[in-house]
Amino acid sequence: MSSFAGRMKEYPNMSLDRFDRENLHARAYFLSHCHKDHMKGLKGPLLKRKLKFSLTVKLYCSFVTKELLLSNPKYAFWEDHIVALELESPTLITLIDEASGEREELVVTLLPAGHCPGSVMFLVEGAQGAVLYTGDFRLAKGDASRIELLHSGSRVKDIKSVYLDSTFYDPRFYQIPSRETCLHAIQDLVQDWISRSVRHTVWLNCKAAYGYEYLFTNLANEFHTQIHVNNLDMFKKMPEILSHVTTDRATQIHACRHPKGEDFLATRLPCGGSSTPLNIISIKPSTMWFGERTQRTKVIVRTGASSYRACFSFHSSYSEIKDFLSYLQPINIYPSVVPIGRTHADVTELLKSMCRDVSSSAVVYRPLGTLKRTRPEQQTHDVDRADWLFEGADLAPVRKRVMMQEATPTTLTNPPDDPLPFTPLVTGDYMDCTESNDDEEEEEGERGWGGERPGGRRERWGG
Ligand SMILES: [Zn+2]
Ligand SMILES: [Zn+2]
Repeated sequence: MSSFAGRMKEYPNMSLDRFDRENLHARAYFLSHCHKDHMKGLKGPLLKRKLKFSLTVKLYCSFVTKELLLSNPKYAFWEDHIVALELESPTLITLIDEASGEREELVVTLLPAGHCPGSVMFLVEGAQGAVLYTGDFRLAKGDASRIELLHSGSRVKDIKSVYLDSTFYDPRFYQIPSRETCLHAIQDLVQDWISRSVRHTVWLNCKAAYGYEYLFTNLANEFHTQIHVNNLDMFKKMPEILSHVTTDRATQIHACRHPKGEDFLATRLPCGGSSTPLNIISIKPSTMWFGERTQRTKVIVRTGASSYRACFSFHSSYSEIKDFLSYLQPINIYPSVVPIGRTHADVTELLKSMCRDVSSSAVVYRPLGTLKRTRPEQQTHDVDRADWLFEGADLAPVRKRVMMQEATPTTLTNPPDDPLPFTPLVTGDYMDCTESNDDEEEEEGERGWGGERPGGRRERWGG
């Protein structure tokens, strides 16, 4: 849950992911992705009024974010003020003070953040140096080295500050199994269940939030089916998602949702299903984490006779964030999120060790073989290459995202069978995903908005 106040020290005339209070005076707005905790004030009356009288104020985001935002009629008034930018294409943006005419030029680049559809990081380069605002992100180990525009020639860019998604920046969250590992485990569970009969049905108990589309599209592909969802409107212009979801209830995989307040009944789907009775299992995606020395990571946990939790995270783990920061070596790191159970001071302190030490940079002994800030050569596909030179930096082609390869095959130690034996929780910790696109939830949050709660809404803990 982001608690970023909207402005970066270096470029205070732009506001990112926060649209109320002092951000009402911004000369340009930036939205990293469509989750409510990054959209505070975006449909507020004061901002709406400001737009009416402004000729120059724009909202910059990705094309997908624009589409998702405008699929909610409450944001329709933004339509003429949104400038969608291509990914990985540096754009010159001039911030203009409408009263004085004062101008400030910045180059802004959108970089993929791997968090949910449309999510980006903003790289901002101007008179105050290069700064990176990550928004929310899930980047795997080595991903930073594959992002072309974090480099300049063969070098990593000199990043002054990183404004960081520090949701899991705490050694407790050392490892979170990769998206691919989690997906494959969920596929195995779904396969085992729906192959029993056409009446065996899976309900994916997902929150109302963008980000699960990765799961839907991959399951739909794997099982040559479509996933039942409540609404398709937001995906109208996104064929790669749209073709995998449906409002037809006659499918074995559902991700439809109950009306608020209703709970899961083992005998009934939120939509009722196409016929009854069905044999249903529920799978609830939740973030699970494992300690540094945990060897085996069980990503599916049985929580009841016909209910499971499956690991699924939109955010980078502690070790993934460390890898990202040690590659970029920024001078300053500002956390945007307080990890659950910690304070802002705790996470700030913990991040100090990841900042580049600029005070002693004059004469520093650097051991041979440490080429971390040198970019791996792309054409190196020689099997005899000196991998040790790069300290494990991946030499995969730049920008090529690792999606479906090398997933660890996961065997269910406790496959579903009737009658289903109940296995108590024996694995690592977990919590529900906290992202939301629910208008009602946001309004609840805004009503109770006296003092800022560190970390925002409290997550529910499992276990
Ligand atoms: Zn988010
Ligand atoms: Zn359904």
